[in-house]
Amino acid sequence: MPPTPAARTPRAALAELLAGNRRFVSGQPVHGHDVTAAAAVASGDQQPYAVLLGCIDSRVPLEAIFDQTFGSICVIRTGAHVLDRAVCGSIEYVVGQLGVRLVMVLGHERCGAVGSAVEALRSGRLPEGSLRYVVDRIAPAVHEVGADDPDAHPLAIRRHVRRTVDTLRADDLLAGPVGAGEVAVVGALYDLATGEVALLPEE
Ligand SMILES: [Zn+2]
Repeated sequence: MPPTPAARTPRAALAELLAGNRRFVSGQPVHGHDVTAAAAVASGDQQPYAVLLGCIDSRVPLEAIFDQTFGSICVIRTGAHVLDRAVCGSIEYVVGQLGVRLVMVLGHERCGAVGSAVEALRSGRLPEGSLRYVVDRIAPAVHEVGADDPDAHPLAIRRHVRRTVDTLRADDLLAGPVGAGEVAVVGALYDLATGEVALLPEE
């Protein structure tokens, strides 16, 4: 489904995105057949209506779970949707230069990256290399829910989405349009068992 003018407001963009997830869950995608070079060529210029930041997890391909086609959404994926300057700059570009009104941060159940952070903080054995950077970015969420809490993993997944949303809402170039209601940053969670995406409640 090509982006519609209605998707040029945050609320309409969110409705369109969630409608795509419902098509995916119901087994009736309209773009499932579109994975061809011809479809890519036919998309022409891109007119994305949302930018999604998700995890690298191989079970969570964002275009598929929202039943999107070429040109409709911008996708950024890092381990546990960890932010760095390149990610923030990319989102600033999509919002500022392409006029996208919706930013979604999508966490998912049983996230291995968050699980690694929980285990590292419980054991005190922190990874080396750049993986340490990723764990360090997730660690505040784990500390907030308590690393030794038996439910630290699922709780930290939600807290980490919330923290990522809050960071983006306060981003230098996003805070203005977000405050004016022109752009929305929302957090959501993907259920690996059902394929459903649920918005995280605002706190
Ligand atoms: Zn993950």
